[in-house]
Amino acid sequence: MNLLHFRLAAACTMTLLLTSVAWGQEQDGDKVDLAALTQIKNQAFQHSQVMENLFYISEVYGPRVNNSRNHRAAAEWAMQRMKEWGLQNVHLEKWGPFGDGWQIKKYYGALETPAYATLIGFPLAWTPGTNGPVTAEAMLVPLHSKDDFAKYKGKLRGKIVLIFDPRELTLHNDAEAHRLTDEEVTTRTKTPDPSHTGFGPGRPGAAATPGEYTPATLSTAAPSGRVLRNEVNAFLKEEGVAVALTPGYNGDGGTVFASYGGSQDPKDPVGPPVAAITPEQYNRICRLLQHGITPTLTFDIETEYQKDDQMGFNVVGEIPGATKADEVVMVGGHFDSWQGGTGATDNGTGSSVAMEAVRILAALHKPMARTVRVALWGGEEEGLYGSLAYVQQHFAPRDTMKKTPQYDDLDVYFNDDSGSGRFRAVSALGNAQLAAIFQSWIAPIKDLGMEAVVGLTAAPTTQPGGTDSTSFSWIGLDGIGFMQDPLEYGTRTHHSNMDLYDRVQKGDVMQGAMIEAWFAYNAATRAEMLPRIETPAPLTKDQQPAR
Ligand SMILES: [Zn+2]
Repeated sequence: MNLLHFRLAAACTMTLLLTSVAWGQEQDGDKVDLAALTQIKNQAFQHSQVMENLFYISEVYGPRVNNSRNHRAAAEWAMQRMKEWGLQNVHLEKWGPFGDGWQIKKYYGALETPAYATLIGFPLAWTPGTNGPVTAEAMLVPLHSKDDFAKYKGKLRGKIVLIFDPRELTLHNDAEAHRLTDEEVTTRTKTPDPSHTGFGPGRPGAAATPGEYTPATLSTAAPSGRVLRNEVNAFLKEEGVAVALTPGYNGDGGTVFASYGGSQDPKDPVGPPVAAITPEQYNRICRLLQHGITPTLTFDIETEYQKDDQMGFNVVGEIPGATKADEVVMVGGHFDSWQGGTGATDNGTGSSVAMEAVRILAALHKPMARTVRVALWGGEEEGLYGSLAYVQQHFAPRDTMKKTPQYDDLDVYFNDDSGSGRFRAVSALGNAQLAAIFQSWIAPIKDLGMEAVVGLTAAPTTQPGGTDSTSFSWIGLDGIGFMQDPLEYGTRTHHSNMDLYDRVQKGDVMQGAMIEAWFAYNAATRAEMLPRIETPAPLTKDQQPAR
């Protein structure tokens, strides 16, 4: 035990004494190490590499559709960096099988007649190429459900079909980027009426009518999306469609939001090439058709399915603990992305922040009692596959909840996957002790905009969904997320062709990395492991696994 650890242990004993004196009144939280905080800030703000990480992840390797060559190359680069920083046990951890990798090799789209225009857009993931340039007539074929198939049977051969109604676009009156005001942050710390159904933060967006085709229902990673994609792809293929087009499910003004189009599972039907184009241009083609003018379009699309390795992978590395190496604090985010942009904010930022957090901790040369492990998950976009596989393999399969010896040694997992925005609050998963501890950690960093603890009473998510922290909570481990300023995540970058490096705010990700390092440091050095959320019961026979 070195001097630092002795002091820490002494301080913690003091805290314990104070806590027991105050027992039954209020938890005091932790006494934090301000000298360490100063060092962490110095590394994070004077020697930051977070944008350099992001540059490589997004601009050099490009979009990282799961299992694609880009994704694998970026993972090799990340492992190299981790080794340079002195991390140990740096490796790829395979899971799966996941299925085929996929990436774009070429995209060209144009309106040829009645007047030439290039078409801003990109192919949907896991859809094939055109096998050279294809020029054909456009046809508006809005598919609202499979009931519409009969209407178009035998009429689509060789056509370029627009499979959704034109999208109604509105003026952008509101600012596209938003930072939470202090008041908004405070509002979000309030727990809603616990008698309300859906107690907790709730789930976004009610599902559309089952079986309804929209650009959103056809692109969702939820199991329902796969069913719909398979139906539509099988129909369009059968009908001999040359290319299918969608206006994306969100965005305009050159920004197209689109993701899934086919399937990584080689057993699923492969449809025709499918591209998303900007809704203004999509609508123009629709209006021409509605005026009795049939436009001619050209597409030249090349995509590549990578079939050589069907296994998915996570990138893992660690800083071994000095005295309690078996106990593990984890940080991470998903490393895979969609294909339209370069996955800069989803989730280049969370990945570069997690890498920077462990770089900072390694650079401090301050021994931490527990091991700090970084994980860059794969397959998040298709359904949290990488983290779900990891937690079940390392800690407990959800169905039996048969715990491995590592289950009790996993202290906490901190996740970053909400875009570029700075951290404004941290979730306490409804655990009052955890909330008190986090309050003491954020007290000396409130000047950085990290102001609050949210979810003081709300029950933690019991189903995996949204992002990888929920995979941990699903089996009763503390999977912690940060509430971030939304900036342009929903309006411009999340799963769009504008998910690019320049949309990332440098100061924000520097702040995020600093806070993630600080949280990991505190967890890795405090006397006790953090209090846990409730352990769920094994699943009964009729409870289907979530995925
Ligand atoms: Zn994401």
